[in-house]
Amino acid sequence: MTIPGLMQDNELMISSLIRYAAEYHGAMEIVTRTVEGPIHRYTYAEAEKRAKKVSNILINRFDIKQGDRVGTLAWTTYRHFELFYGVSGMGAVLHTTNPRLFDEQITYIINHAEDRILFIDLDFVPLVEKLLPELGAIEQFIVLTDREHMPETTLPDVLCYEELLVAEPSDYDWPIFDERSASSLCYTSGTTGNPKGVLYSHRSTIIHALSAAQNSAYGLSIYDTIMPIAPMYHANAWGLPYVAAMLGAKLVLPGPRMDGENIQGLIEDEGVTFSCAVPTVFSMLFQYLEDSGKKVDALKRTMIGGSAVPKAMTEKFLETYGVSVLQLWGMTETSPLGVVACATPEVDALPAAKRQEVMDKQGRVQFGLEIKVLDDTGVPVARDGVAFGDLWVRGPWVTASYYRSEGGKVLDPDGWFPTGDVVTIDQYGYMKITDRSKDVIKSGGEWISSIDIENLAVGHPKVLQAGVVGIFHPKWEERPILVIKPAPGQTPTPKEILDFLKGKIAKWWMPDAVFIVDEMPLTATGKIKKIALREQYKDCLRD
Ligand code: ADP
Repeated sequence: MTIPGLMQDNELMISSLIRYAAEYHGAMEIVTRTVEGPIHRYTYAEAEKRAKKVSNILINRFDIKQGDRVGTLAWTTYRHFELFYGVSGMGAVLHTTNPRLFDEQITYIINHAEDRILFIDLDFVPLVEKLLPELGAIEQFIVLTDREHMPETTLPDVLCYEELLVAEPSDYDWPIFDERSASSLCYTSGTTGNPKGVLYSHRSTIIHALSAAQNSAYGLSIYDTIMPIAPMYHANAWGLPYVAAMLGAKLVLPGPRMDGENIQGLIEDEGVTFSCAVPTVFSMLFQYLEDSGKKVDALKRTMIGGSAVPKAMTEKFLETYGVSVLQLWGMTETSPLGVVACATPEVDALPAAKRQEVMDKQGRVQFGLEIKVLDDTGVPVARDGVAFGDLWVRGPWVTASYYRSEGGKVLDPDGWFPTGDVVTIDQYGYMKITDRSKDVIKSGGEWISSIDIENLAVGHPKVLQAGVVGIFHPKWEERPILVIKPAPGQTPTPKEILDFLKGKIAKWWMPDAVFIVDEMPLTATGKIKKIALREQYKDCLRD
């Protein structure tokens, strides 16, 4: 029989992060490219004061209770950062909505969450005006700006964030409550069915942040200057607003502009050492750097995830800009840290080419997260880097079910979550994604990895983006086709691209057709929208 331990049993509270940062790193800066345009800078101490004002506003002005949902349609800025702490800190639930979703998805999400208040960045006021007739439960709209920039709007009784803050006291004692209480809510884009809400808790958020900060994960410390380009509405900017406060590290928030000029400027002016985004954002940065001849000398490491990192991107970062790339695999459902491609002594000791092959994979698990890879019959696949199967995950920062039971029961009887990704795992513990299960291409009974072909294709200097999808084929069931968005000013031919792939992939993996397009359809989180490609080209291989 066990006996109870005799240690203190403090609740893990999100507010403790900002309290710590304000008390011990109070002078450390948070720098923002504002929606209004100029750079704004202040400190963790000031951020905490304003976050407390946010809590006071919610309680005193709007009678928000613990557990109520408070929505945002906002960029990555200091005001949004204040809401991260002010809303969750008092016990309400911060619901960040991705403004790039379709209108119907945005209204669905906001109504499903039953947000009582909506904080809106200036850019999104017209969007909310348009959606207004559908937005049932919202009692109050608040624009995240000052009086001077308040827009003319048809929104009823709209209030100005800065005016509200001025009127409110900044003394507030962060309450302590059950760490398992909900803290924030983020919907996945729901490529099939309705978007589903992932409801994080204070406990899951803190444990995720502790794990993410580790050397074997994001590898951050107070000596880093951290710039999340991954937006605050995409899995909480990958946890970085929490991790940065936990470390007391300088935080740089790029606001509404993810363009190369803004990103490069912030990196150099603010000494950003670490940044993170999906691959498409860094493609834009490369383009800007090439056109302008500018540098990103301050930057030491980038963490890239959300979709597979092309080998060509890793090489260019390292060889041209001296920046090392850390690949992350994750999902909204995993907060998002899943696996990270960190080195180990064993892998470092491999011959260079073999080491690189391993490091180009999605990565290995952190302590705290478990993964298993099962074949079609439910048997674990061999850890040989060849056998593939469905990836399942389990851990204290993985979702147990979706908000309001959307999608029903999601875990298996042992508590494992099905990721929908098809992967291999090698002898060193590194996982490689071959596809999302719904994107897998099955040709003549054999599987083809769309991700591998895409990765190779973007290695061609004339290619900016590449999407591979399986299209119905009368004989082979499905065959891959390749859709290319050229690099600016380039006009690659399908033949050039196919010649480039020759010899690098099995013959029967070679795409049956290559299409060159001006615009690649992208999802709200910046990934290639394969559904749209499949729909557009669905008949292209029929006789
Ligand atoms: P959304 O699809 O709405 O953007 P998520 O960000 O939760 O939602 O997407 C998670 C999915 O993104 C994963 O299941 C996986 O298919 C894909 N993904 C994430 N990181 C990587 C990566 N490094 N390589 C390949 N695919 C990735």
